[in-house]
Formats: sequence, structure tokens, C-alpha cells
Amino acid sequence: KDVSREKPMATPETQTDVRISNRDRLIFPEAKITKGQLADYYAAAGAIMLPWVAHRPISLVRCPQGRAKKCFFQKHDSGSFGDHVMHVPIREKDGGDEDYLYIDDVDGLLACVQMGTIEFHGWGSRVEDVERPDRLVIDLDPDEGLDFGDVKKAARDIRRTLDDIGLTSFAMLSGGKGVHVVVPLTPDAQWPQVKDFADRFARALAAAEPDRFTATMSKAKRKGRIFIDWLRNQRGATAVLPYVVRARENAPVAAPITWDELEDIERPGAFTIADLDQLIERAGSRELRGWGEASQTLPDY
Ligand code: ATP
Ligand code: MN
Ligand code: MN
Repeated sequence: KDVSREKPMATPETQTDVRISNRDRLIFPEAKITKGQLADYYAAAGAIMLPWVAHRPISLVRCPQGRAKKCFFQKHDSGSFGDHVMHVPIREKDGGDEDYLYIDDVDGLLACVQMGTIEFHGWGSRVEDVERPDRLVIDLDPDEGLDFGDVKKAARDIRRTLDDIGLTSFAMLSGGKGVHVVVPLTPDAQWPQVKDFADRFARALAAAEPDRFTATMSKAKRKGRIFIDWLRNQRGATAVLPYVVRARENAPVAAPITWDELEDIERPGAFTIADLDQLIERAGSRELRGWGEASQTLPDY
């Protein structure tokens, strides 16, 4: 059963039974955004987020004292998330199982916020079948000083290259420095095949245009280039999920956009937590309906 296509009901914040403590704590000091406001955002955005966030192993960026203080990336339960955050055992390389976190409703989102979570990152596969990814993410990481115009052009070119090999892709502003090109997949191929595809795709881009692209993580090799971060597509790796608030200045949101509107967008942090109403309205618009959905499998490449 494909749970990703179920549209969860919006849960008004008043109906959650997760209590948010310290609602007045400043989480984004520069933008004066409190923990209560962050919780309200996730309560309201739950309906548009959950199709992407639910039933997927997640990692959390937690900043209990706010984004300006210490933040940490958390993959496993510390025993304090409560009943709304569930566990899925996943086989580790050493043969043992480790419990990963997943949620399936607004209460789950809020239980994480209560624990100081700002960002939700997800595996490329779902808890029902963690070995078969349902999405591939081509994460474009520009070198410092590169213009966002260069990133936009790269995203468009990658979209066309994917199209040429029969893959439909979608654009998401990361809310940070770059753009994610998202390729939905029918869960079929397993991680090694998906990783191999992403690796070869990134290396082909870098080989064809070495002045624009690199497929190597090294910062030195990135000089003036865009790193095609194909490493998001290996088992255990995560990418930020749609509509997540980033722990960065002014609370930018990872925002799905259409390819057409990418032309006019000036920065990857174009949408922020303050755009909640607009984000919800956009998500139901004709242009964005169907964003991130396509029945397709990786071609031979
Ligand atoms: P930007 O546009 O600024 O690059 P991003 O979300 O793409 O934003 P990256 O630095 O490219 O950020 O990271 C890509 C992904 O790597 C993140 O979305 C996250 O899921 C994962 N990641 C980031 N930090 C860690 C970490 N400390 N441990 C494990 N995975 C991480
Ligand atoms: Mn990135
Ligand atoms: Mn990256």
C-alpha cells in the first residue's frame, strides 16, 4: 500500500495533545521567532508536509536553546520523544539492528518540536521498505561566492538531462544555499543501484563541464563550481524534507517550486516561516499539485 499518496487531514493546533513548553523561548533570535510560533507553523503546515515526512526514517536538527546556540543532528531516540515518535529497526552494516525515528502525524512533528527540533531530514526510502528508495535527490551545493543564477541554470540543465533519459524531476529551494532537484521513484531498485546511478550521473556532468561542476566533496575542488552532491542517495543518508524550517537566519523554508517560477526567484531562502499561508495555498494550487509525484524507475545509464 502506497501511504505516500494519502493526503493526511489538517490537525488544528488546538487538537494536538502534545504540550509545548517554553512557548516564549526565542528560537530565531534575529527574527524574534519563538518555540511556540515554530510549533504553530508545524501544526498548520503538517497537512502539506506529512505526505513527504511521514513514514520515512528521519533525522532531526535539534537546537534546544535556539539556532544561535548549540545544535545537533539526531538519528536515534534519546528515550524522551514520547509515543508520537515511532521507531523502525534498520539493519546496520555490522549486522545488528538500530532503531530509527519516524512519525506519521502532526503530533509526531510537534513532539519533535517540543524536544527542540527545528529541521526534519529524511531518508530517500520509507519505513515500509527501507531498502528501496522512492526518491532521488540531486543536491546542488554552490561554492561560496557563486551567484544563485548559476545554481538556477545548473538546476535547469540537470532537469533537461534527466528528461532526456526519461526522468521527470522537480525543484525545491533548500532554504540554505542551493536547490534540490528531486526525482520521484517507484520503489523498485535497491540502494546500491540508486547510489550507483547518482554517482555516475554526477560524474558525467562534471566530466562534460568541469568548469561548472564537480562530483567531489572536497572544498578545494569546488572552487567556483557547483558540487553535485550525489551522496544524498546512499543508504542512511538524508536530505531536508519539503516545508521544513531551516535553522538559519530568518527561518527560511525548504520550498517546493515549479520550474517556471524558479526563473524569477532570487534566492534559495525566498520563502520563510512567515509565508505559511502562502505556502499552504501554493501547495494546493494547480501549478504545484502533483509536485514530487511521478511513476518512474531508473533507466539503464
Ligand atoms: P544547502 O542548500 O545550504 O546546501 P542543504 O540542506 O542541501 O542546504 P547540505 O549541507 O548540502 O545542506 O546537506 C545536505 C544534507 O546532508 C542535509 O539536508 C542533511 O540531511 C544532511 N546533513 C547535514 N548535516 C548533517 C550531519 N551533521 N550529519 C548527517 N547528515 C547531515
Ligand atoms: Mn545542499
Ligand atoms: Mn550537500
